[in-house]
Amino acid sequence: MAQQNRISYAWWLNGWDFEARDVATLTENGEAIPPEDYALEMKGSIFCPGCFTPLFRSPAEGAHFANRRVARYNHYASFAHIECGLRSPKAEALKFATEELAQQAIENGKLTVVHEFRSAAPEAEGNLGAAGGIAFHEDVDGPVSAYPVSRYKGESFALPTKISSVASICRRFDRNLFKYYVFPGRANALMLSAELTDIRTVVQPDETPRLYFAEIVRTEKMGKSDQNLRMTYFACHANVHDFCMKATIAEQSEKGIDENVVRRFILIWGVVTESGIGLCINRPKWGEYALLPAQYERLLPR
Ligand SMILES: [Zn+2]
Repeated sequence: MAQQNRISYAWWLNGWDFEARDVATLTENGEAIPPEDYALEMKGSIFCPGCFTPLFRSPAEGAHFANRRVARYNHYASFAHIECGLRSPKAEALKFATEELAQQAIENGKLTVVHEFRSAAPEAEGNLGAAGGIAFHEDVDGPVSAYPVSRYKGESFALPTKISSVASICRRFDRNLFKYYVFPGRANALMLSAELTDIRTVVQPDETPRLYFAEIVRTEKMGKSDQNLRMTYFACHANVHDFCMKATIAEQSEKGIDENVVRRFILIWGVVTESGIGLCINRPKWGEYALLPAQYERLLPR
């Protein structure tokens, strides 16, 4: 069996140089290119979304190897001294030698500790802008809490946290996919790509909250008032009768979820419960779900 490769896209930016370490320019002006969309003209100008060193694609041409195996990105051996969570075939938790290094990772945006997702829309703060049709509100600070993210067993570090929303994750999903997150109730920092679960793989209730991605296949209003529920159904496993999210019509329309977004994807944090003969995520909190901007759908780990 082919070794698993977790580099689902590379940053492409002509003229960018890893040695200058100007990551902000790369992620601001670069384009996320999945291996199957790679073209020869990108050679020498594609970079790892985890460690930002140059990558090469194999095979160099065409979307498949001669044996039909799909194309993939690879690190260069010459950059093996640069640590990267995408070099190992399995997702590993990020650990730190010192509390200072962990706090630094938060400051420079490599790690986000989510204390909780917002339970309601912030008041009076206003909408700070929209990306791909989703409203966005700035995260606010949560409490400083202890997390066992030390390299040494039994040691915890005090880390600043955020009260965030899934919309924040969706907003620059291309940048966030290979960042590390500690989600509510979790002890470890894992890459977002490793936390994302395809809802089509779920076949039974699950009381551990997870971050799911799901394709909307239909949506139905359960009444005339805005405060009635809307059932939004997702593509699901063949053994599951149906799988829906239940939230008010008003809240879902605020998030852009209605009949016009069938076939679009949402990200949703929650527990899976039974609903009739199917499954559901029942009444997620305001900050626990958002429509994924359409341009990022091709980056989902499907
Ligand atoms: Zn890398």
